[in-house]
Amino acid sequence: MTLIDLTVMYSSDDRCRELLERLRWPSGPVCPRCNDTTPARLENTPKILYCRKCDYQFTVTSGTIFHDSHLPLIKWFATALLICEAKKGISALQIKRTVGMAYKTAWYLCHRIRKAMTEVDREPLGGTVEIDETYMGGKHLHRGHAEKFDNKEVVVGIRQRGGDLRFFHAEDAKSGTLARYIKEHISEDVEVIVTDEWTAYPKAMIDAGVHGSRHKTIKHKDRVYVQGEIHTNTVESAFSLLKRGIVGSWHKVSAKHLAAYLEEMTFRFNRRKRSDLFLDTLRHMVTADPLTFEDLTA
Ligand SMILES: [Zn+2]
Repeated sequence: MTLIDLTVMYSSDDRCRELLERLRWPSGPVCPRCNDTTPARLENTPKILYCRKCDYQFTVTSGTIFHDSHLPLIKWFATALLICEAKKGISALQIKRTVGMAYKTAWYLCHRIRKAMTEVDREPLGGTVEIDETYMGGKHLHRGHAEKFDNKEVVVGIRQRGGDLRFFHAEDAKSGTLARYIKEHISEDVEVIVTDEWTAYPKAMIDAGVHGSRHKTIKHKDRVYVQGEIHTNTVESAFSLLKRGIVGSWHKVSAKHLAAYLEEMTFRFNRRKRSDLFLDTLRHMVTADPLTFEDLTA
């Protein structure tokens, strides 16, 4: 899907709605209140559906991330497409200029799309899994370990080799925190977990029940970066993409919203080889709960 295709195929709000309806209700409209599958369309305004069972009017965007938006749907679509196509992220300022809207509208819009890119119900990672942490403050990401960067935000990265990537805005990089991420996101049947020599990992592995030979350590301190299959290069390459996003596109990410940017980055990264990235993003948007401006800025 290119921006040109998009403007041709979804030139009107009605066409955008037809697509959203197919994505939200593949087997036909369903009342969001009582799940009745026979709502009627209002004769003069077919975008409005009416449920006789529970006497409720709704549209395909009711109760979703689009809720209460006065922005034409094509602007939502164009912004979502630009976000999908921007491997390193795209700023609200760029959306303001390219799609055409006020800066505050663009900022809020990007955050709503980002929220829809949050994954739920993720399968545990297995096979060979790499874990690494990085430290971020202001616009800079830092290599190195926690005691050196007291006022930085910690980002933990976990990547299954040949599989999915996850980033977390962690409270710290201590063993207890790392053990929690390992338990929550890595399968008990994992073959190997590779980390660097950060002193918190051995205890984290014990706490998480990963014993002995399944934890491999690469000694970056000794300038060893790859020892056969033992390296953390694939999670580090994802960190460098994140770094380029923060320095190059978003310029500055506040601690408050860091987790949301991490979700956007991993959502896109994990679907980078899928041809339906844009449609899947729209599907997430039309099934995600609303995010009010008050909640976002609270
Ligand atoms: Zn109903």
